[in-house]
Formats: sequence, C-alpha cells, structure tokens
Amino acid sequence: MSNTADVIIVGAGVQGASLAFHLAQRGVKPLMIEKKFIAAGATGRSSGLVRMHYDVRQDTELAWLSFQYFRNWKEMVGGECGFMRTGFLQLVSPTDTDKLKANVAMHKDLGVPVFLIDAGDVKRLAPCIATEDVELAAYEPESGYAMPSDTANALWSAARAEGARLLQDCAVTGVLMDGGRVSGVRTSQGDFSAPVVVNAAGAWAGKINQMAGLDLPYDTWRHDTMFVARPPQLGPSHPTVIDFANEMYFRPEGGLTLVGLEDGNPLGESPDSDTDHAKPGFVERGIDRICRRIPIMENGGLHSAHGGYDGITPDQHPMLGAAGPQGFYLDCGFSGTGFKTAPAVGLCLSELILDGKASAVDISIYAPQRFADNKPITGKNGYGSQWH
Ligand SMILES: Cc1cc2nc3c(=O)[nH]c(=O)nc-3n(C[C@H](O)[C@H](O)[C@H](O)COP(=O)(O)OP(=O)(O)OC[C@H]3O[C@@H](n4cnc5c(N)ncnc54)[C@H](O)[C@@H]3O)c2cc1C
Repeated sequence: MSNTADVIIVGAGVQGASLAFHLAQRGVKPLMIEKKFIAAGATGRSSGLVRMHYDVRQDTELAWLSFQYFRNWKEMVGGECGFMRTGFLQLVSPTDTDKLKANVAMHKDLGVPVFLIDAGDVKRLAPCIATEDVELAAYEPESGYAMPSDTANALWSAARAEGARLLQDCAVTGVLMDGGRVSGVRTSQGDFSAPVVVNAAGAWAGKINQMAGLDLPYDTWRHDTMFVARPPQLGPSHPTVIDFANEMYFRPEGGLTLVGLEDGNPLGESPDSDTDHAKPGFVERGIDRICRRIPIMENGGLHSAHGGYDGITPDQHPMLGAAGPQGFYLDCGFSGTGFKTAPAVGLCLSELILDGKASAVDISIYAPQRFADNKPITGKNGYGSQWH
C-alpha cells in the first residue's frame, strides 16, 4: 500500500466511514487507519436510534438530512443499513410539556414529520405502554433504528468502490507536523503522509488531539445496554421510545427489546476497559425502569447486556472542524448520539475540508474553539443534560 494519501482519517467507526464515503464521492482518495477493525468502537455497540427530536436546531438538521440517507440507503449509498421504521415516541415529564411543544414546532419548521399526541394516542399506538404520567408526547411516524455495523460497512464499501483505502490492525501513535501544519501520521505499521489528517477516533480521540498538541476538554463516556426477551402477551412489537421521565430509552429488535439508561454512565474510564459485560447493578436498574413503562415486561426475561465507550465533550455536542496545526480536523466527541447524524456530518465535513465551508448544514456552532470562547452549545428549550 502506498504511504501517501489525500486525506488520512484516524478511526473507522461510522463517522470515519461516512467522511471517507463523502470525500471519495468528490474524487478525493482518503486512507482510513483503524487500530482494530471497522465498527470496533462505539459504532459496533450503538443502539442505532434514528430520530430527529433534539432541542438544538442544527442537531435536528443533521439528523433530518441523515434520515434521507437511512430511508433511501440503496440509492444514496448502496448495500444495507438495516433501517427499521418502528415509529418513535418522545416522552417527557409533564413539567417539560411546553419545551416539548416548542421543540416540535422547530422540527415542523424544518419539515420533519412529527405530531404532538396525547396519552390516549400513545395508548392506541402502543397498548403496552403505561401512560398515567403522560400529558403530551412527540410522535415521529417515520423514525426507528438502523444497524450501526452494517451502516459503517456499507459506507466503507461505497467509499472503497471510489478509491478509498482502509488499513486495519494499525494504531496511530503520533501526528506528524512540518512547520505549523500536519504532514501525516506515525503508526504501528510505519509513517503515512497526507496534507490533511482527521481525528475520528471516538472515545480515543482525546489522545489523538494530544498527539497534535491540542489541549481540549474531552472525556470518555461509558454506556451499557441490555436486551430483554419480550413476553408473548405484549404483542408483536412496540415503537422506539425515549422516556425522559424514567431516564431511559428502548426499542425493539425482533422479539427482544433493547434498553439503555440516561443516568449512571461513568465518565473518564479507559475506553479499552471490558465492554463484554455491563457494570454491576445496571441490569437491575434497567429492568426496574422498563417494567415501570411497560408493566407486562415483568414476564420478560434477560437476554444479554454489554457496554461501549464514546467520546464526550462538556456540552455533550461534537467537535467538528479545524483545530491546532493547519490541515488537522476534528470529527469526534459525539457524546452518545453520533450514529444517527453520521451521514450528514460526513457530508458537511467533506465540504468544510474541500470547499472551506459546509453548505449542507451550517456546522459552525460545533467548532472546537467554542470551549475556549466559553460558548457551549445549549438548546433554547433544553430538557437538561441528557447523560448524567
Ligand atoms: C452503547 C452505545 C449506544 C449508543 N446508541 C446510540 C443511538 O441509539 N443513536 C445514536 O445516534 N448514537 C448512539 N450512540 C453514539 C454513537 O454510537 C457514537 O456517537 C458513534 O458510533 C461514534 O462513531 P465514531 O466513528 O465517532 O466512533 P467509534 O465508532 O468509536 O470509532 C472510532 C474508531 O477509532 C479507532 N481508533 C481509536 N484510536 C485509534 C488509533 N490510535 N489509531 C487507529 N484507530 C483508532 C477505534 O478502534 C474505533 O474503531 C451510542 C453509543 C454507545 C457506546
């Protein structure tokens, strides 16, 4: 393999693969360097929720643009992303009803198919769901979930068809610089040169930033999930749900229900820690919460549980754009929500790198400089920190 490239992307998760896809579409030949294999990090453990409900307009714009890819995958990318349209329900505490209304108005303004529905409608959509505490919910009939590993692999296959390359089992150990600009990377398989290096290393991205001499606020975030076998009495399936009142989300997968919790996600651990097993206590908390929202789940059974690590920033939004030496870009810090936006983020970053400006969505609010400027991203009608 030649040791020079137009662009080097560190990390082959869904974000690296999306950027490789969009660069290759523009005739640029990127080289992805991955220390393990495609989707070995957060992507391979992602719950894969695909929905547009956010309290920051640009987040919804990225999710909505990405959604066009998920639902037209064969035509726009090729291969499979495994998108399943289950419908999506956003449940909030009654005290957040006004925020829900304002956010749904913003989503409608962007063209997202979404409805405000009451407890009776929720019950009609999903009779298994307890609705005593529901005043209003947001319902996105088109949303659902996709298969993150399939998504990353399909993006990579399409990129490869246009000349992109991938080096697996190859760890980046240093960022090479010449004067004030990047010239490539040092790896466990030798040096590779390129005028542009993109850090898409997920939970490990803080280390790559340090290699480029950057001192940015960046941490690791652990998130456990579990699969529960649904009891037959529950019926065939249920929608994908984020349930802020119970600090939980869940979605179907065949006869199983995947459950994740918003709280108790430790920060600052090594992303190389054990992810084959969930943390002690997680399963008990998860079962308690899912049985509160779907009481008949008391008759379900635990199938499995495991964990994963993503990179997180202080405002729980990604760092996208140039930082540090000339030619160095950040595509990281997705803070537990970077699967559903990956197709659009890759497009926007490819535009930023090649044209100097992202035109599909204005991603300037995600510039890494915002932390030094003390301008963290906050939603006008935010529900509070998603993870705590
Ligand atoms: C359990 C869990 C559930 C989630 N659920 C959802 C969800 O439902 N919806 C949603 O939108 N988001 C979700 N997320 C978040 C989403 O999965 C991530 O934001 C997204 O996958 C990040 O992709 P990435 O490519 O940035 O990182 P990763 O997939 O982590 O990829 C980074 C890659 O970089 C590689 N790497 C690291 N260091 C080096 C190095 N030195 N040299 C070479 N390669 C290196 C790693 O091996 C890894 O493959 C979830 C995350 C987790 C952990």
